Amino acid sequence: MSKAKLPQYDYDIIIIGGGPAGYTAGLYAARAGLKTLLVEGASTVSQITITDLIENYPGIPEGINGFDLMQLFKNQALKFGLETLAKDVSAIKNNAFSPAIWDITVGDKSFKTLSVIAATGAQWRKLGVPGEEEFAGKGVSYCATCDGPFYKNKDVVVVGGGDTAIQEALFLTHFAKKVIVVHRRDRLRAAGILQKRAFAEKKIEFAWKANLTEVVGRDFVTGIKIADVESGKLSEIPAEGVFIFVGRIPHTNLFHVLLKLDAGAYIITDDNMRTSAAGIFAAGDCRAKQFRQVITAAGDGANAAFSAELYVGDMKGQSY
Ligand code: NAP
Repeated sequence: MSKAKLPQYDYDIIIIGGGPAGYTAGLYAARAGLKTLLVEGASTVSQITITDLIENYPGIPEGINGFDLMQLFKNQALKFGLETLAKDVSAIKNNAFSPAIWDITVGDKSFKTLSVIAATGAQWRKLGVPGEEEFAGKGVSYCATCDGPFYKNKDVVVVGGGDTAIQEALFLTHFAKKVIVVHRRDRLRAAGILQKRAFAEKKIEFAWKANLTEVVGRDFVTGIKIADVESGKLSEIPAEGVFIFVGRIPHTNLFHVLLKLDAGAYIITDDNMRTSAAGIFAAGDCRAKQFRQVITAAGDGANAAFSAELYVGDMKGQSY
């Protein structure tokens, strides 16, 4: 479609999501001179902002707090003219009069854009066991950085065996008297270096092949019940804090009808971040992929912005 045939629109690119993928896409798109709006959810925060320490982001050997790293991403993108809006997107649909335009509803406003980058991230998965919801904020937590300092000299439980669970278990040893990692298998999924540190840490103990079946307490958590995976035998672990890190669920509700998703509801893309819908790209944790890191999210963001730039140029009848 040539430029002459394009109807009025507000933006070349609208990015949905304010994490590392979204802000990197924003940096690249704004710096490329594209009129770009980044809408970051008012009701959710990027998971990275509640991560205590990132020590594997290249170029920052001393490590950095997730919130501080995100501020650096943001300031760099704003410097190049990225526009931002802190509101939740409630709908995305093809414009009724032009298939080249996507209508994005944000609060009581609607914006027309040539392309969209979904960088909506993911949220912590819940176990769905009795007591989990009841004691949320009263001993049950999904954020060690936020709540760890409340557990000075107390016993806490960490559920899960992935990178997050082990990294956060290590972090919790700065406060807790004892950290018991409850994992459903007899080996961890976490990276070797984290495993090595956890096994060397005297404050960390493991409850292997165990499923948490109930969080117990009165006003606050007093412990958990676990069941042996093989025998089903029940036992109780006394603890005042229960930190649950059993993976994530992608924020892709907006895209269920529009895009092809995998079995876990992650958005399927090609290597260039193109989704199943022309003009919609996806980047970061909401995308189906093997490895979810700040660096991979940032890489996705750069790729998505470049693909969107090519797409928008094509729509305007400009070759790259
Ligand atoms: P994850 O890798 O999906 O691990 C989830 C853990 O929870 C697994 O050990 C899994 O057990 C367990 N689990 C899942 N559902 C469960 C259930 N219903 N009951 C009991 N246990 C359950 O998730 P993650 O640790 O949050 O990591 C997500 C991604 O972020 C990964 O790609 C990871 O590499 C990355 N990450 C990286 C870093 C870092 O490099 N510093 C830090 C944090 C996260 P099984 O092992 O038995 O499946």
